[in-house]
Amino acid sequence: MELSRFILATSLRLSSASVENYQPTPPPAASLPDHLLLPGRAMEANLAEEQECVVCMEQKNGAELRPCGHKDMCFGCANHIFKSGGHCPMCRAVIASVKE
Ligand SMILES: [Zn+2]
Ligand SMILES: [Zn+2]
Repeated sequence: MELSRFILATSLRLSSASVENYQPTPPPAASLPDHLLLPGRAMEANLAEEQECVVCMEQKNGAELRPCGHKDMCFGCANHIFKSGGHCPMCRAVIASVKE
């Protein structure tokens, strides 16, 4: 009787200790365009939502995609998608060039 109570108390202590020592593993870093990984990149705070790049949501948009003419990405993201052979995120048109 006494022994089983002792085992129960010990196992409870062990389980609570292991919860205290539990370290959540940080999520893996998402793959970002090169210009977002550079240290000291320009942070433009308080951008209105319609001025934000739709990809990184940190830089100001305004890079013009050709031929579709969408201007919803910053130059860095637009160039990254253009160079990796991607499509316009707004209309899925093939990006032929990017105009800053
Ligand atoms: Zn961007
Ligand atoms: Zn487009």
